[in-house]
Amino acid sequence: MGNQENTVPIQPALREVFDHQQRAFRQYGPLGYAKRMEALDTLLQTVFKYEDILLEAVNIDFGQRSASETRILEIFPVVDEIRFVKRNLHRWMQMRTVSVNWQFLPSRGKIVYQPLGVVGVIGAWNYPVLLTLSPLVNALAAGNHVMIKPSELAPSTATAIQQMVSEAFPEEYVSVITGDKNVAQIFATLPFDHILYTGSDRVGRLVMKAAAENLTPVTLELGGKSPALVHESYSTAIAADRICSAKFWNAGQTCVAPDYALVSSSKVDEFVRDCQKVISRRFPRPSCNGDYTHMISPAAWRRMRDLVDDAECAGAQIVRPGSANETFTAENRVYPPTLVLGAEGSMRVMQEEIFGPILPIVTYSSFDEAIAFINTRPRPLALYYFDRDSPRIKKVLEQTVSGGVTINDCIFHLPQHTLPFGGVGPSGMGAYHGFDGFATFSKKKGVLLQNTLVGSILSRAFKPPYTSRSDRMIAFLLKRNKLRSTPRFTLARKKQGHS
Ligand code: NAD
Repeated sequence: MGNQENTVPIQPALREVFDHQQRAFRQYGPLGYAKRMEALDTLLQTVFKYEDILLEAVNIDFGQRSASETRILEIFPVVDEIRFVKRNLHRWMQMRTVSVNWQFLPSRGKIVYQPLGVVGVIGAWNYPVLLTLSPLVNALAAGNHVMIKPSELAPSTATAIQQMVSEAFPEEYVSVITGDKNVAQIFATLPFDHILYTGSDRVGRLVMKAAAENLTPVTLELGGKSPALVHESYSTAIAADRICSAKFWNAGQTCVAPDYALVSSSKVDEFVRDCQKVISRRFPRPSCNGDYTHMISPAAWRRMRDLVDDAECAGAQIVRPGSANETFTAENRVYPPTLVLGAEGSMRVMQEEIFGPILPIVTYSSFDEAIAFINTRPRPLALYYFDRDSPRIKKVLEQTVSGGVTINDCIFHLPQHTLPFGGVGPSGMGAYHGFDGFATFSKKKGVLLQNTLVGSILSRAFKPPYTSRSDRMIAFLLKRNKLRSTPRFTLARKKQGHS
């Protein structure tokens, strides 16, 4: 896979690193369990060694992000994932025995997970440590060599990760390529055996196009508008606390942040009051609050301002709790937590992924209307539902399609090592984390160990020259599933047995 050349000229250095990695993969063969564990241990210890450097680099890139936030949202998840992978790797690497079709018994089936070769990781800037190192953990666990292209919008972190990785690993095993989007564009044309890309859907399409030239498979971790739906029976105080905390972490620059809240019109005033309380308590005076993260760039800040101006012009009410008498400018990159009341579908805040500290609040009058609102929009990366009623929770899970779900909270499905993480449709394709990450970066190879007797029966009965015995045997095998009459399929549900 991925060995066809394409016509885009490739920077020699980039291509050299790739060739070097490919040669090393062939030379050293697939790394066994002990070497992979050694690599994971090395990465773990290097993350600890570089912790302060990474915290400071992220802080510089954002203009301000508290060390606590980076520790909670980036360092801990990486460290915890390495520990989880180490605990399970031996089991994941085992050849699995599976049953075979009864006609082939007593032959045996095996599944073997094999490393793919050289994989490419393209990261986004919003969690610049997590989004490069977490795929790295999964790719190393699966036995691959890895090239990483961190985002140029978090340049200090990219340099810190490059230093860290080059200290820990030889270039032919893991290497970090820094540079602007032209470098990223060339990076995507390398004939990798797999690319995991995190970022916008616009660039995701370009990456997929470039990868298609080499038939390189891709995992695309994209974004979208993730709704937080609050049932009218649920405590607005708890829902507001969990939605606002998740929304304003990293100043809303989180792919799985709740993008907007869907609240019953009978409860919206109460919900807004509770949101105001939460914001004033958790994020007071944002212009000088050391726990509140800044926007990644003045351009991102101006985009927030434009989204809010557009909503206000279209009749929305803008509420900024806890930030009275403060000034916010594109230069200081602090954009305060902002509620948009009376948000409507025609406003930009309801058409684009916000990716910043603005929470539009949309009202619904019936539960079915709320579900329909979600289903008429592109499939989101995450969906949050607040309710205690199990049948309704089941209905939401069955009737909506999203990358992942957290019930009665936000974001926390993401760090679960046992849950696949990835989008669907415009929010992404493929998944990683835990075993799913190991599988994403592996070839799942099916193997049949043919039994001698079965092999000779098949040779005699089912291969030319065909005899009347072959016909009798195949007629017997076909007949087993035949019904007397041919039914006609209809989409209408039968009355019994379906709810
Ligand atoms: P982006 O698409 O601008 O950039 C992402 C990466 O793509 C960067 O490393 C950049 O260098 C690279 N790149 C740019 N042009 C390229 C090209 N032509 N070919 C190959 N690579 C190229 O995205 P962003 O602004 O960094 O990230 C924001 C988006 O990412 C949001 O939509 C957010 O929801 C999404 N996101 C998703 C996840 C997830 O896990 N699903 C996580 C974080 C962010």
